[in-house]
Amino acid sequence: MLLKGKKILITGVANDWSMAWAIAKRAHEEGAEIAMPYAMPNLEKRVRPLAESINADFVQECNVQNDEQMDALFNAIQEKWGRLDGMLHAIAFSDKNELTGRYADTTRDNFKNTMDISVYSLVDLTRRASKLMTDGGSIVALTYFGGEKSVPNYNVMGVAKSALDSSVRYLAADLGKDKIRVNAISAGPILTLASSGVGGIKSMLRLNAETTPLRRNMTLDDVSGAAVYLFSNLSSAVTGEVHHVDCGYSTTGMMPNEMKDILLKALDEEAK
Ligand code: NAD
Repeated sequence: MLLKGKKILITGVANDWSMAWAIAKRAHEEGAEIAMPYAMPNLEKRVRPLAESINADFVQECNVQNDEQMDALFNAIQEKWGRLDGMLHAIAFSDKNELTGRYADTTRDNFKNTMDISVYSLVDLTRRASKLMTDGGSIVALTYFGGEKSVPNYNVMGVAKSALDSSVRYLAADLGKDKIRVNAISAGPILTLASSGVGGIKSMLRLNAETTPLRRNMTLDDVSGAAVYLFSNLSSAVTGEVHHVDCGYSTTGMMPNEMKDILLKALDEEAK
């Protein structure tokens, strides 16, 4: 019961594949009370039954681009709970037509929209949540390695993740004196609604599983365990961090020898 009595707002649940759902469920198992809004009306039928299964509250529409819905969510939390101890940011969006091909072809409209939904939302949610974190708190965002190095097809979402990682550090500096910690989990790739929009995700998952130091892909259990640690008092001196939960992928500079051999052999065969 690492999160006993904690009140945690979980954003970004779209369905039972969502990383946010895995984290909500695990946090509930660890004793937390969960607030679980959804982004748009057509998600309610998927999110409501999930929320009911863990007695989550505040199952209401909250699109981060809609100030009235944001006001309504935080007013409701203020009225009913009066405080927050944690908040998960698990929100990203970009036009899928621009998550393939060249980053150089990103349009201004999609650049702005991607940044607004995927990055500014962390700033806005943090400002609102921190006002309710009267006894300190922990804010966790989900990010990806494509913000540190270029990854094929990740394009503008990679640029957004760089800005998200940086926002984590600036928000941690702002809020530390209020005993509010802000960290990100850099999760390895996993198939979800959001990641299915990234071109070539299935081949990326296959290759990733063969090339990480642990020779497997990250699981929902891996990411939810790390989130419980960051929401809990076990991580009480950790803030401003991007914590990689990626089976070690980000620590390597080149694929393992056995994969290199397989690829070189395939190239030789093709050249014959
Ligand atoms: P997901 O599709 O389940 O979650 C993305 C969520 O963003 C959805 O719930 C969607 O409703 C929400 N969202 C989009 N636009 C919104 C808006 N305007 N207002 C409010 N919510 C909005 O997919 P996921 O992969 O679980 O993504 C969660 C987070 O994890 C994202 O930030 C994603 O970039 C990040 N991430 C994903 C992977 C991966 O491989 N799946 C890896 C690392 C990081």
